[in-house]
Amino acid sequence: MRAFGFDLDHTLAIDNGLERVAFLRLLEVLLSEGGRTIGTLRDEIDSIDALLARQRQGEYSIDEAVRRFAAGHGVAPAERHVAAFRRTAVTMVDEFLVPLPGVKPVLDALREREIAVAVLSNGWNPLQARKAQRAGFHGPVLVSSEIGERKPAARAFEALLQRLGTPAQLTWFVGDDPHADVAGAQAAGLRGVWLDWERKVYPPELKPPDRTIRGLDELLALLPEPERVP
Ligand SMILES: [Mg+2]
Repeated sequence: MRAFGFDLDHTLAIDNGLERVAFLRLLEVLLSEGGRTIGTLRDEIDSIDALLARQRQGEYSIDEAVRRFAAGHGVAPAERHVAAFRRTAVTMVDEFLVPLPGVKPVLDALREREIAVAVLSNGWNPLQARKAQRAGFHGPVLVSSEIGERKPAARAFEALLQRLGTPAQLTWFVGDDPHADVAGAQAAGLRGVWLDWERKVYPPELKPPDRTIRGLDELLALLPEPERVP
């Protein structure tokens, strides 16, 4: 192997619903500007989760989600709302983000072996870049909002390979999502590693992963011995 790509959310770290809370903060701003609620707090949370789910499916951008949110609360969408949401979300990373166990030793081991590493995430920067940094990763963070392609599209993985400078067959991709991460990587010619720390069932209709690991530390056993200078 010559390179590793990693998914970010639920692979290197969890963010504990950071964007949901950023929307609730924005709701406070909208209400102070004369906006109206759509129901109970429960209704607001359900509506935010639905809005984010559609955004994560690639239906619209995060900026468009903010504009829809403002309009849905009776406030004319403005750039200041988008800017406020983005700033709030990025600022929350330090408090909300929790790296998954094993991240640091794996990243250290990859660095020691001079194996190229990059993150490929369906998301937006600077949020994902800040999350990766907080998880201890300081390399390239490719996001769908910038490359214009979302996993599992082969073009997303091609962008990753281009950034890593490695051929597909020598590149491993690690992620928690069977469809977006593992099947997507395999279809693009990479080796797909499924990180199953949440103990799920792999979709039977998919080709099995090249490897399944229950924790990132299991990656260490797959790595070659580091070269020692004689
Ligand atoms: Mg993920």
